[in-house]
Amino acid sequence: MDEKKIIRKCAACNVLKSRDNFIKITVNKAKEIKIMPDSKFFGRSVYICKNNDCIKNIFKKGRIYKILRIKPDTMFEEKIRAVLEK
Ligand SMILES: [Zn+2]
Repeated sequence: MDEKKIIRKCAACNVLKSRDNFIKITVNKAKEIKIMPDSKFFGRSVYICKNNDCIKNIFKKGRIYKILRIKPDTMFEEKIRAVLEK
């Protein structure tokens, strides 16, 4: 199976794209948060387009925290944005 063809939806703008076009954020049962986790890290995940607008929108009204069921973290948005610079 070609993993790159797996389609996911952006949690901010609802666009459908293949998985490798997104920033993936996963929270496991121990509430550990990983940005762009490897395939061995399981949990509740959110996919966001690799652009500033979608990152900004997913943080509006704390949407991302509700989706991932985690506490707000002031550094979180910055950490996700850092993925764009890679
Ligand atoms: Zn998007």
